[in-house]
Amino acid sequence: MNALVNTIAPLLRQWQGPLTEELVRSPGRFGLGQVPERLAPDSTTTMVCGFCSTGCGLKVHLKDGKAINLSAETDYPVNLGMACPKGWEALTPLSAPDRATTPMLRNEKTGVLEPIDWERALVLFCERFKEIKRKHGAESCAFLSSGQIVTEEMALLGALWKFGMGFIHCDSNTRQCMATSHVAYKQSFGFDAPPFTYADFEQSDVLVFVGSNPCIAHPIMWQRVMRNQNRPEIIVVDPRRTETAMAATQHYPIQPKSDLVLLYGLANILAASGWIDRDFIAQHTTGFAEFAEFITQFTNERVAAETGLTEDDLWHLAQTIHDGKRVSFWWTMGVNQGHESTRTAQAIINLALMTGNIGRPGTGANSITGQCNAMGSRLYANITSLMGGHDATKEEDRRKIAKVLGIDESVIPTQPAMAYDQIVEGIREGKIKGLWVLGTNSSHSWTQQKEFNELLSKLDFLVVQDLYHTTATAQHADLVLPAAGWGEKEGTFINSERRIGLVKKVAKAPGQALADFHILQLIAHYWGCSGMFARWASPEAAFQLLKEISRDKPCDITGIEDYRMIDARGGIQWPLPEGSAPPETERRLFADGRFFHADGRARFLFDLPRPSPEMADAEYPFILLSGRGSSAQWHTGTRTEKSDVLRRLAPKSIYIEMNPADAHRLGIETGDAVRVTSRNAEITASAFVTPTVAVGQAFIPMHYEAINQLVSTVLDPHSRQPSFKCCAVRLAAVAQWAAS
Ligand code: SF4
Repeated sequence: MNALVNTIAPLLRQWQGPLTEELVRSPGRFGLGQVPERLAPDSTTTMVCGFCSTGCGLKVHLKDGKAINLSAETDYPVNLGMACPKGWEALTPLSAPDRATTPMLRNEKTGVLEPIDWERALVLFCERFKEIKRKHGAESCAFLSSGQIVTEEMALLGALWKFGMGFIHCDSNTRQCMATSHVAYKQSFGFDAPPFTYADFEQSDVLVFVGSNPCIAHPIMWQRVMRNQNRPEIIVVDPRRTETAMAATQHYPIQPKSDLVLLYGLANILAASGWIDRDFIAQHTTGFAEFAEFITQFTNERVAAETGLTEDDLWHLAQTIHDGKRVSFWWTMGVNQGHESTRTAQAIINLALMTGNIGRPGTGANSITGQCNAMGSRLYANITSLMGGHDATKEEDRRKIAKVLGIDESVIPTQPAMAYDQIVEGIREGKIKGLWVLGTNSSHSWTQQKEFNELLSKLDFLVVQDLYHTTATAQHADLVLPAAGWGEKEGTFINSERRIGLVKKVAKAPGQALADFHILQLIAHYWGCSGMFARWASPEAAFQLLKEISRDKPCDITGIEDYRMIDARGGIQWPLPEGSAPPETERRLFADGRFFHADGRARFLFDLPRPSPEMADAEYPFILLSGRGSSAQWHTGTRTEKSDVLRRLAPKSIYIEMNPADAHRLGIETGDAVRVTSRNAEITASAFVTPTVAVGQAFIPMHYEAINQLVSTVLDPHSRQPSFKCCAVRLAAVAQWAAS
């Protein structure tokens, strides 16, 4: 057994007696022991942060085999000695009192979750899912996973569910954040390939941020912008005067969801003015002639009317892009979470292509990802596509995967998995009867929240696998499986710039909580398919499989030897095919102008803009925006709410930002209770009156659970990503504050 990794495979082969007894007798064999042998008990080691996709390197300090503190790694090429509040507090959530320390089963009589042993939990897990499958078929169960677990776990989960357990449907919470970028890149470039490296933040002379607030959402990336020595123009396109907009040189406060019209209008000005790179377009792209014809309808007059900008604004913005020698375009959730998000992302890609701003330092059409391993999920989760960017509908791809994994090709489903919203719809229709939720908090984060939570009661069996037994979703679970968290297990993450970074075990998981990887191995054993996963003996063994799967794909990482190489080099960006020269610290894609479509060309893709179904009207006259509230908060607060330090850095209760003119008209002052009513629900929030929000708009941070009661399930047709960013609401003062 590889001494560097705790693996349970030998135990599974030998195990005869009750599992719980074995857990108590030999905890180390389940990864329950102290830190791995390669880390000295009193030492410092570097690993990547487990919150956001920036992927900062953190130095974790160990004493007597326990992680006691951490600091930012000065030599890691991502963060260069910086970390945001979440990173500094990364160890704190691990010692929260509400950690799930044993499996828990809901007592049918009392409705209370009660501790049970692993043996019973695993037998029950397998029996219930098998029973549902037997009665209702392979399409009757689904899992919802996470961009927060390591790549090796994502891959094993998808393989176990589809190839071992024989189910089909599954999705990840990356559907809520990165599905749009995935689809947009795949269609435009031929592969899901963010082209940039963080050095581009420092090398641009014009940076255009669309629907992106890195000051708050990606603060270390913003610090990289601040290191730019080129006195760059920093342009922010955002309805709100965000922290990034305040720090920018130009802010364009467009009307909500008029971004696609603006981007087409800019393309029209650039094309009509001849401010385009004709050589690049001719040599490296297809579809420009049709695009150039299409955008002529986006006259300055029309675009100004629809965006709320002036024609002078449009000219100034286009002129700034034209004047730039190294222009980079960046987008985040303001684009991805829209009703026509894929075409909007591609409209940004089109601007980069037509101006030749790609493949050179300081350029690119650059999607900033969200979760620490969103990129791992996009490439290796084995959910909607076959792992490694393969296509389950292609026989050659299925054959390759089967060969690498040593499995029969016939177990690989050719049928596409349902997307998140389709799984939810499947529950409503009674088609999905069993659901397994891992490392995500759907009861908070999905749309039309009240309805979603009511639907959970229709399930025959709901399993939640998480660090905490107290999440909103766990409150509905029949069975809770206790998972180890970041810092309590090994594996890799892939960050926004395609850098594969290492996560190490620096702390002991509490009680009998196990790494997701080990839980999956145990499930394989109890399901009776562990033979199929003999090659997945440890996370590092799984990494070697994923390497082989990536061979000859754009994300080829066959040149990465092992975890030690990743560790020694401060992370390694993909691709790195076998036989490559030692990689540079910072690498970008498309320097040769070759894209991943068969003809080597990028495509101009476009569609007519459509009005959002959630636009304001007489009954719901405000547009509610959402986003990250502070750099101390992370998504549903499952972990950040465990830190006293982080909790003090953000308001405890839900609040709504609104413009002074609207507040005055409605008789509302800061601190007053405001009734917020959408087409789905009504909640109460505390007012914060601020001119950073435009008249007719309002803003609530995404971290407060009640907000997703308001949001409708409006989806982008290509990525099926929900439009969280635009929700029509009515606002009114309520006489007396009552916490919603
Ligand atoms: Fe962690 Fe992201 Fe903060 Fe870096 S910016 S320390 S990766 S949460």
